[in-house]
Amino acid sequence: MKPFKIGEYEVSSIIEREGPIRTPKVMFPTADPRRAEELLREGPSNVWSPTSGILFNTYQTFVIRSAKRTVLIDTCVGENKARPPHFNYPKQPWLDGFDRQGLRFEQVDVVVNTHLHVDHCGWNTRLVNGRWMPTFPKARYCMSDVEFGYWRDQTAQGWELPGRIWTDSALPLVESGHAHLVTMDARVDDDLSLIPTPGHTPGHVCVRLRSGGLEAIFIGDLMHHPIQCAEPGWSSCFCVDPQLAAATRRHFFESVADTSTVIVPEHFPYPTAGRIRSHGAAFRWEFLD
Ligand SMILES: [Zn+2]
Repeated sequence: MKPFKIGEYEVSSIIEREGPIRTPKVMFPTADPRRAEELLREGPSNVWSPTSGILFNTYQTFVIRSAKRTVLIDTCVGENKARPPHFNYPKQPWLDGFDRQGLRFEQVDVVVNTHLHVDHCGWNTRLVNGRWMPTFPKARYCMSDVEFGYWRDQTAQGWELPGRIWTDSALPLVESGHAHLVTMDARVDDDLSLIPTPGHTPGHVCVRLRSGGLEAIFIGDLMHHPIQCAEPGWSSCFCVDPQLAAATRRHFFESVADTSTVIVPEHFPYPTAGRIRSHGAAFRWEFLD
C-alpha cells in the first residue's frame, strides 16, 4: 500500500502476496461477466489483467503507528499453518516486510482481526517448540466475540479448515490471556473503534481510526474489488451470508460516500487506500493520489 497519514498516525502495510487471483465470475458468483468487463474497462487499470480477464488481489497487514502505539490490522496467512495449496504462501515476504518497518515482534501493542478467515489471522501465532505461541508477545489481540464463537461452533461441528484456523490462530491467544473477545462495536482505545459489518462472516468488523480531525476505516473483506462499488450486490464466493454481506456493504457505502473518510480494503492492489463516491444509483471507487 502507498503509506499515508491520519493525524498523528502513519499508516502502511506489509504485503504477503499480490497479483492475479480469480475471474469476476469465480470471485463474485452472481456477477454478470459482461457487466464486470464493462466496469473493469471503465475503471483503474491496476486492478485486473485485460489479457486474461483475471482480477488482482493483494494480501496485506496494515501497520498503524504513532509515538504512543503500534497497531496491526489483520495478519495474513502466516507460517507453518499447513493451509491448502492456494493459501500456502511463502513466509519470507511478510517477514521481510515486517523487518522493513523497523519493527520487532515485541513492539506491537495491539492486533485487531477484522474476522477469522485464513488470510486475516495467520501471523497471530507462530509454532515454537511444537506449540502455537503469540507472534507478538506484548500485544493485546482484539477479536469480535461473535466471530470467535461462530468459528468455535463450526470447529465443534467438524469443519476441517475453519477448525484448523480457529485452533491454531485464535484459541491459543484466548488460552494465553492475550486475546480480548470484544463486542462488535467496541472501542479499542482512544483513537480506534470497531464497526459491526456482518455478512462476509457473522462477526466481521471494520476498524475506524480517528486522529487530528481525520478518519480512516479499515474494512477487511467488506469488499474484495473496486467493481463492487458499482455493484454492491455482488458478494464474494467466500461470504458466509452473501445477502447480508450485500446489505451491509450498501449501507456502509451510503454512510461514507462523498466524505473525506479514507477507506482501506485488505485486498485492493497498490495504492490500496481510497475514497467512495456516489455515482448514479450506486458508487465508484477513487484511489488516493
Ligand atoms: Zn480476505
